[in-house]
Amino acid sequence: MADFDVAVIGSGPGGQKAAIAAAKLEKRVVIVERRNMMGGVCINTGTIPSKTLREAVLYLTGLNQREMYGQSYRVKDDITVGDLGIRTQHVIGREIDVIRSQLARNHVAVVPGTARFVDPHTLDVIDESNRDVKITADKIIIATGTRPARPASVEFDEETIIDSDGILNLQAVPDSLVVVGAGVIGIEYASMFAALGTKVTVVERRERMLDFCDLEIVEALKYHLRDLAVTFRFGETVAAVERHARGALALLESGKKIPAETVMYSAGRQGMTDGLGLELAGLSADDRGRIPVDEHYRTTVPHIYAVGDVIGFPSLAATSMEQGRIAAHHACAEPLHGIHHLQPIGIYTIPEISFIGRTEDELTASQVPFEVGISRYRELARGQIIGDTYGMLKLLVSPEDRSLLGVHVFGTGATELLHIGQAVMGCGGTIDYLVDAVFNYPTLAESYKVAALDAMNKLRRVARFEL
Ligand SMILES: Cc1cc2nc3c(=O)[nH]c(=O)nc-3n(C[C@H](O)[C@H](O)[C@H](O)COP(=O)(O)OP(=O)(O)OC[C@H]3O[C@@H](n4cnc5c(N)ncnc54)[C@H](O)[C@@H]3O)c2cc1C
Repeated sequence: MADFDVAVIGSGPGGQKAAIAAAKLEKRVVIVERRNMMGGVCINTGTIPSKTLREAVLYLTGLNQREMYGQSYRVKDDITVGDLGIRTQHVIGREIDVIRSQLARNHVAVVPGTARFVDPHTLDVIDESNRDVKITADKIIIATGTRPARPASVEFDEETIIDSDGILNLQAVPDSLVVVGAGVIGIEYASMFAALGTKVTVVERRERMLDFCDLEIVEALKYHLRDLAVTFRFGETVAAVERHARGALALLESGKKIPAETVMYSAGRQGMTDGLGLELAGLSADDRGRIPVDEHYRTTVPHIYAVGDVIGFPSLAATSMEQGRIAAHHACAEPLHGIHHLQPIGIYTIPEISFIGRTEDELTASQVPFEVGISRYRELARGQIIGDTYGMLKLLVSPEDRSLLGVHVFGTGATELLHIGQAVMGCGGTIDYLVDAVFNYPTLAESYKVAALDAMNKLRRVARFEL
């Protein structure tokens, strides 16, 4: 008999939820995690530190209050990394405690160390003192996540030339920052540092950024970031970064030279599979370290599953959790429904963006007709009260049955507000519900009613012509 029914490698959102789900199904479960990484990238270096940092930046800079109290309003004049770090460390500590307690309550064994396969049912776990322990399990769930990808040509020094993990260890808030790569992580950090007063330059190889989002909203974000003195260099590639005594010089292929105190590479992520001994389990990963899986998150070896960032897109904490739960249930012969086709996207830039469903560009490309209903925060009493004059909510509505095809939100609370639209879409609702519903007043949620009425009025206008 194996030592455990289920062994989980990695304690990020995917591994955690897989372990807890299997334990709830009364299985004997073990989770393996490197010391100091309980909670995964999510808690230690990714989602939670970056979102807490953002909260600290918004609070200390007073950025969101300047509409009311003037452009010079600040809670603190000289914001230090210490001020920012206090909040981050506090939240990380609490979150780790919550996870440890959940695992203990559910009798999940925790083995500290790095796991690698010895054979398809056996893991060898080595701790930092080089002691090792062997674990056997009937089912194994790989949730090892990713690390920042580092171009071989760049000499990272953890001080001046860093990746997104390094940003959390900066000794001072830089005066100037070059962000290489305008993906979600790059733009989120670009907006936080711009809010702190750092002069930020974003260099992106492609002509556009966040091209999976609504174009109008990305334009609004770019406008805001430019207003915070962010410079965008689209269609440009960093050829080399020179390190100097007082910072670095980013040399672009076009010949431009950008001096900066810090250069942060945000050049995608690499699956954490290279040390896993996958070949000894009969598995392999692609060149970005990702493991292929089927709809149940089963690898090509049927008793081994993989979930979370290590399987690739969409690489979000929320999806990783759900994948973990689904995989554990399948492994324990109590399968659940597959993952819902509607997945929300939240981007914590300043201001934030969130959407679900399809974009205008996608609908147009697939020749699906739609009407747009818009609500602007400045026309809502709550928008005025909080001083958010730029936020907007946009509904994409089918003229055929008035169902929601997409919901796009920009501004304060976008990532929370989005879930009202998600619930309506997920339950197959139409804008009729939003038009009829009474919302608390004054709220941002009211924007759904305003946008639904806008769409309804536009649809009515078209219908009059067709009479
Ligand atoms: C800067 C940043 C910001 C982000 N912001 C958001 C956000 O706002 N919203 C969102 O939804 N997502 C966000 N993400 C993505 C999110 O963090 C990931 O999707 C999520 O953490 C993936 O979870 P996971 O379960 O795959 O494992 P991870 O969180 O990646 O953790 C994997 C764990 O496995 C462990 N491990 C690896 N190999 C071994 C081994 N051999 N033995 C033992 N343990 C091992 C690692 O130590 C690690 O702790 C962000 C990511 C980053 C980097």
